[in-house]
Amino acid sequence: MNEQNNGSQEDLGTRELRINPIVPTESVLIATARSMRPQKAEEAAPRDTRHHVERCPFCRGNEDKTPPEIAHVPEDGDWAIRIVENLYPVLGDDRQNPDMIFGLQQAINGYGRHEVIVDHYQHGIAVNEMTQSHLSMLFQTYQSRMKQLYDSDQRLKYVLVFKNFGPAAGASMAHTHSQIIATPVIPQNVQDEIEHSKKYYEKHHHCIFCTLVNEALTYEATIYDRDSGKVVRKIDVGQYVVERGEHFIAIKPFASRYEWEVHILPLVHKSDFIQATQEELDDFAHVLKRTMQRLDAVIGGAQYNYFLHTIPVDKQHDDCQNSYHWHLEICPRTSIPSGFELGSGLFVNTVSPEDAAVQLSNVLLDEE
Ligand code: AMP
Ligand code: ZN
Ligand code: ZN
Repeated sequence: MNEQNNGSQEDLGTRELRINPIVPTESVLIATARSMRPQKAEEAAPRDTRHHVERCPFCRGNEDKTPPEIAHVPEDGDWAIRIVENLYPVLGDDRQNPDMIFGLQQAINGYGRHEVIVDHYQHGIAVNEMTQSHLSMLFQTYQSRMKQLYDSDQRLKYVLVFKNFGPAAGASMAHTHSQIIATPVIPQNVQDEIEHSKKYYEKHHHCIFCTLVNEALTYEATIYDRDSGKVVRKIDVGQYVVERGEHFIAIKPFASRYEWEVHILPLVHKSDFIQATQEELDDFAHVLKRTMQRLDAVIGGAQYNYFLHTIPVDKQHDDCQNSYHWHLEICPRTSIPSGFELGSGLFVNTVSPEDAAVQLSNVLLDEE
């Protein structure tokens, strides 16, 4: 019989529903005893670490295997990063499909843009292995393409930049890449953050993300049970801080949906990623690289999604400049959502965010 599955109910670990402070309609079930299950969800997939792959359409020398190139950097010499049209776009210039309403059936034309950013000329390089200067160049590439897309077409209301790495994160191409999807509507997840943070600002005259950063840096509390007087929980200074740079902080969210989820935010209030300066992007690269090194050391060969949430670029959102705070969410995929998650909309996280934060911040990294 499996030692971890002897029917004993002794160690139930943490079991609690945690409310997402930014979007209170979202909650997460922290159920640490569940990680004792004999069958672990997603096994680490063997990484494809090859430098160059003859038949890969994203490798140097195979430029003719992608649809037209949009840009490459640096402009002179061999490219290091390349933006191309997506061969199988999920949204496009669908003039032939008009909007449609028929009874309960409603369809909006799938207008938009879907592009691929080949993050690095080396096929199998992971983010934690890229140089800080390369990552900074990658973020400048994100910035300039986002700006171009917003400037090019008023119908594009949001430009989402994201990355899938590893099959468990939905990546179908092994060559390291990011994607840009520009949509004619603001995605619901971003909309929810914008609305809730605006409400918080109206009530407290302070950005909720800034409050979160402040709490992560300075909070210290002991929470007692009202009846017994027993200590329920101690919150230590910096308990949720995974990494800190000069301009950015990486935090383990209290209500993490994913076991090893980490968010990176500017330390000082900033709403718009596109406006980040070169100095800020260098520090962002530094904090992301070190965060990915930590994740790699703890979970080994992380398969993950990351995505940027930033203020939409239009006049309508001018009044959210003080309440919205841009950030990157990194979601390593170590478990597969089950029927409960799909049926309830509740994420189940089997690792205590406090333990995860300690493990990540304890990794010893070389100073650069
Ligand atoms: P993912 O599925 O996250 O790995 O993203 C890879 C993306 O690359 C998908 O959206 C594909 O449609 C796209 N894709 C696959 N092959 C090519 C190609 N030869 N040129 C451009 N895009 C491609
Ligand atoms: Zn390749
Ligand atoms: Zn803020």
